[in-house]
Amino acid sequence: MDKKHHRLTTLASDNNQLRITGRSVAQLVTVAGGSPCYIYDRQALTARVAQFRQQMPSTLRLHYAIKANPMPALVSHLAQLVDGLDVASHQELLIALGSGINAAHISFAGPAKGLHELKAAVAAGITINVESLLELERLYKCYDELGIRPRVAFRVNPDFELKSSGMKMAGGPRQFGIDAEQMPSILATLDLNRTEFHGFHIFSGSQNLNAESLMACHRQTVALAAQLAEQVVAPVKHVNIGGGLGIPYFPGEQMLALDNIAHNLQQLLDHRPASLANTEFVMELGRWLVGEAGYYVCQVTDKKQSRGQTYLMTNGGLHHHLANSGNFGQVLRKNYPVVLAHCLDSDEQEVVEIVGPLCTPLDIVGAKLALPAAAVGDFIVVLQSGAYGASASPQKFLGHPEAAELLI
Ligand SMILES: *Cc1c(COP(=O)(O)O)cnc(C)c1O
Repeated sequence: MDKKHHRLTTLASDNNQLRITGRSVAQLVTVAGGSPCYIYDRQALTARVAQFRQQMPSTLRLHYAIKANPMPALVSHLAQLVDGLDVASHQELLIALGSGINAAHISFAGPAKGLHELKAAVAAGITINVESLLELERLYKCYDELGIRPRVAFRVNPDFELKSSGMKMAGGPRQFGIDAEQMPSILATLDLNRTEFHGFHIFSGSQNLNAESLMACHRQTVALAAQLAEQVVAPVKHVNIGGGLGIPYFPGEQMLALDNIAHNLQQLLDHRPASLANTEFVMELGRWLVGEAGYYVCQVTDKKQSRGQTYLMTNGGLHHHLANSGNFGQVLRKNYPVVLAHCLDSDEQEVVEIVGPLCTPLDIVGAKLALPAAAVGDFIVVLQSGAYGASASPQKFLGHPEAAELLI
């Protein structure tokens, strides 16, 4: 049972009621125009970036990976605080440009980029993380057509992996990047008249809560970057070492402590080889920056018993929050932290199944959850919901209204 596991994050409360940005959930839902909705706490986003700046090496650059949460207002807020934005589609590129950030600080990674996306990226003057030899050849053609030298970095698929990641994105055969062992020949023939070389992108995995694994990966990443740097005639302006910092979602998981990770990175930067002496190092983060600043709110619409189980029916579910339903890459479904907005704690708890309005048993908001007794009209809040929520869910499925999004 998941009793009290929401204690993994500190919640602001008043009279046992959840407060977000100093306001009640009912007030925020009214501002949002109704429930279901996502609420993003602007100050929490600012505080996250400040924590990174305070703890991580001062020369380490911080990028926001937009795919975690592409809400334009949120991206614009972060754009003022971080050093760059990473996009993975043309739509995300437009959102990044709309934030007002300097195009030179935008990079574009992702497999199977379309020709129109490559052209748009070159025309906009952003950096393209090249993921295949054919993509490089297409960029040469972009130069021939547009007369603008594409800014290129190579996304490299290393021969190591980031252990204990929620999602591994490197090592072994991958659709991402170019295998490290293919890089020497590509670098040897790189046409610097038709491209501007910027550096390397080595992203190994996501949702990692194991500091030792991350530290080992950072060591291997810098060593690989150094090897690659020796093979290219142009200076390596930047190395994007990926990110992967996770946040706790499930019972038993804990906040990642940054101190050892930061110390390790500082050592690596201090003792970097000469080939990387003038290189800027970048970390790109998605969920670590935005995940804990977001809340998904839905409302109880019905309550019923079925053969010994209590069901809370809500107006929200899988269609807004696929990850919370357990259908976004998880092997075994576990509950996100879920609370009852107006009563965070009570000695009297009931075990409930919280479900949404979709005609599928997959539509779970919380399973076998112990919560204070809830009634029709109450607000249910899913915590840790600022990343991979609204934009990563099949909102059109079954035709229910989309979730409103409020940044406040
Ligand atoms: C998805 C992705 C990220 C963000 O991952 P998080 O786990 O949200 O931090 C960063 N970089 C690349 C290349 C990605 O594909």
